[in-house]
Formats: sequence, structure tokens, C-alpha cells
Amino acid sequence: MDLNYSAADESFRMEVRQWLTANLPADLQHKVLNHRRLGREEMVRWHKILAKKGWVAPGWPIEWGGTGWNATQRHIFEEECASAGTPMILPFGIAMVAPVIMRFGTEEQKRHYLPRIYDCTDWWCQGYSEPGSGSDLASLKTRAVRDGDHYVVNGQKTWTTLAQHADMMFCLVRTSDEGRAQEGISFLLIDMKTPGIIVRPIIMLDEDHEVNEVFLDDVRVPVANRVGEENKGWTCAKYLLGHERTGIAAVGRSKRELAFLKRLAREHHKNGRPIIEDPLFAAKVAQLEIELMALEMTVLRVISSEGAQRGPGPEASLLKIKGTEVQQWLTELMVEAVGPYAMPFERDFLEGKAEHALDADAAPLAAYYFNFRKTSIYGGSNEIQRNIISQMILGL
Ligand SMILES: Cc1cc2nc3c(=O)[nH]c(=O)nc-3n(C[C@H](O)[C@H](O)[C@H](O)COP(=O)(O)OP(=O)(O)OC[C@H]3O[C@@H](n4cnc5c(N)ncnc54)[C@H](O)[C@@H]3O)c2cc1C
Repeated sequence: MDLNYSAADESFRMEVRQWLTANLPADLQHKVLNHRRLGREEMVRWHKILAKKGWVAPGWPIEWGGTGWNATQRHIFEEECASAGTPMILPFGIAMVAPVIMRFGTEEQKRHYLPRIYDCTDWWCQGYSEPGSGSDLASLKTRAVRDGDHYVVNGQKTWTTLAQHADMMFCLVRTSDEGRAQEGISFLLIDMKTPGIIVRPIIMLDEDHEVNEVFLDDVRVPVANRVGEENKGWTCAKYLLGHERTGIAAVGRSKRELAFLKRLAREHHKNGRPIIEDPLFAAKVAQLEIELMALEMTVLRVISSEGAQRGPGPEASLLKIKGTEVQQWLTELMVEAVGPYAMPFERDFLEGKAEHALDADAAPLAAYYFNFRKTSIYGGSNEIQRNIISQMILGL
């Protein structure tokens, strides 16, 4: 196992860095680096710029637009994007439903959906969780009943991220009550404009509209929109979740945020001196940096084993737990560093419509802190990840 970057890797890094410098729009970069919120148009704009360059889906097979980069190059690319402050590419299309369509979809589904996912013609959302079915996802109750060449879908999904913008939803539905709960689930692709779908906002702790409830009332979905066999949707669901968890560690972004935290701690004072000079605070920052370095090494180890043709397996759970703990800890220390300056959060300021602020670095941080409470819950809660580790790695 070699964790050092080769000369070829370093020259690849320079190529990516130079391209980002020339092509990342300054307004988007400003928002990302300063913890402001991005709207649909802004996220799609960046998606399309990357798609035009051919870099929006590095992990895809080349025939569908993948770059052919190896795992280390993909890691370098993500690191450079994070360090430059690019908007994130939403995972629901590129990283989640697309691999499922490639693996289990028909040729027709591939030809129709993959190019539209690639260039963001369709914005996707994920309809897995329901009230009462989150960790215990297989208990889901949204039902699809066959009616000729359609399914009629009734039920409710919840926590559906950015469904207010979505054109399409990939959705788990119950098509049978026979056998084990996992055996009666199917995987459907639902057009959000179909009559009978209502999307209602759930406002989060940071006052942002990021998640939704989605109600389905006699929604007619063509049978042709089912991926994989009827009642075999659980196989697709599990395949997709593995892809969801590997991306969550976000080491590159945490490295950028650590540098930001250190700057905050140099510029903000407590008892007349920069808070970074407070030994207790400095020790916390040092501990966090050690955790982050250890996480980075773990990511590189996982990548190097992927290069050796072994999938990430349950290590994805480990990365999810550690990655999200580091992210949450960063936001905690940011708020601690700026104290009361973090408190006044205002929607217009966060959305970039107002440039006021007593302290522009600090003003978004309370909202940022609250927003990041989600990371240990979504993508399968961290407690569930610990269960997976204990069963699959420790053999308990
Ligand atoms: C911001 C956000 C965005 C989300 N986006 C989406 C989305 O786009 N699409 C989607 O389908 N879902 C989404 N989710 C839902 C997410 O996947 C679920 O919230 C998550 O799986 C947990 O389910 P739950 O909320 O029903 O909690 P529950 O499953 O009810 O769990 C409650 C608590 O009990 C613990 N717990 C449960 N079972 C066990 C166990 N066996 N052992 C130990 N502890 C256990 C959990 O860890 C948690 O702390 C999102 C959630 C959030 C917060």
C-alpha cells in the first residue's frame, strides 16, 4: 500500500486546479467559501459547466461520460473542488440513481435517463424514508398496485431533500406483503409532475427549506418506470446506499473548513487575546486536526484497496461516522470561536441577497452549525453504521 502521490498524480492535480481557477464562477465560489445558501439555478449552473467539460461524473463508465480516472485521481479531483469552493454536485442523480440504472435498468432506461442525469435535464430526489420507516426502511408502507401497464401509488415519503425542485423521484414502494418485508419492495422512477403528488416543506432548525414531505395519492406510474424485477427493489436500494455513504466523508471540504476555523480563531478575541492563544481552545483544534488527518489516511487506504479491485464494503460505514463527526465538530468550534457574533442569522444574508453584517464571517455560522446536526442522521444514522461495523467488520 503506497499512500504517497506520484509525479503523474501531482501534475493531474495542477491540471484540475488550473481549470477550476479559470472556470469556477466567482459568485458561486464566494457563496460556498462564505457559508451562504445556493439556489437551484446556481447548483444547476455549476453542474452544467462540469458536464460540458466532461468532468461531472468521473465514476461513470467511459461509454456514458465517465472520465476513466483511477480512484486516486477521483480523490484528487474532489479535494481540489473542495479547496476551490465549488458547489457540490447533488448525489441523487449522478451518484445514486444512475449507478442503479446502469446496473439493473433496461437498455431503454439507460438511453433515456443517463444523458439527462449527466447534463442535469432532470433534478432527482430520493423517496426512501417514510414516517415510521427510516432506520427500519424495509417496513415501508407506500403501496403500488398494478393496474394494466401502470402502478397506482399511494402513501407518504418524508425528509425528501430538495424535492421542491425535483423533476423525478426514485422511490421504494411496497408491491407485495408475501414473505420477508424486504422481498415485497420495488424500485420506481416517478415523474414529479404526475397528478396526485403534493410536496410540502419541512423547515429545518436553521430555518432553511431543505427537506420535504411528499404525499402520493393515486399516482399512476408506468410499469416501464420500474427498475429491476418486481419485488426485487431491495437489491437496488442496498446497492444505492453503499454509493451514498462513500461520498459522505467529505475530507476535502473539512480540510478547507479547518483552515477557515484557524483564521476565525486568529481574528476573534477572548479576554483581550486571539482565541487561538487560549490553550484549551488550541488543544481542541489540534485534536480535531489529528482526527481529520487520520480520516484522510483511512480514505486513502480505502481508495488504494479499491484500486486493488476490492470494493469499499463496510469501511464506507466507518468513513460516514468519522467524516460526519469531524464535520459537526468543526461547526461547533467555529461557533465557539466567534461566540455571540454567530447568533444573528438572517435569511436574506444567507441567500446572498443582503451583504450587511456585523461580522460577515461569523453571521452564517449559527445556521451552519444547526444545519450540520443532520449529517449524523441522514444516509443511515451513525448508530446504524455502528451496527453494520459490529456485524460485518468485528463479526459480532
Ligand atoms: C436533513 C435530512 C435529509 C434527508 N434526506 C432524505 C432524502 O432525501 N430521502 C430519504 O429517503 N430520506 C432522507 N432522510 C431520512 C434519513 O435517511 C432518516 O432520517 C434516517 O434513516 C433515520 O431514520 P428516522 O429519521 O426515521 O429515525 P429512526 O429510524 O426512527 O431512528 C431514531 C433514532 O433511533 C436510532 N436507532 C434506530 N434503530 C436503531 C438500531 N437498530 N440500533 C441503534 N439505534 C437505532 C437512530 O440512530 C436514531 O438516533 C433525510 C434525513 C435528514 C435529517
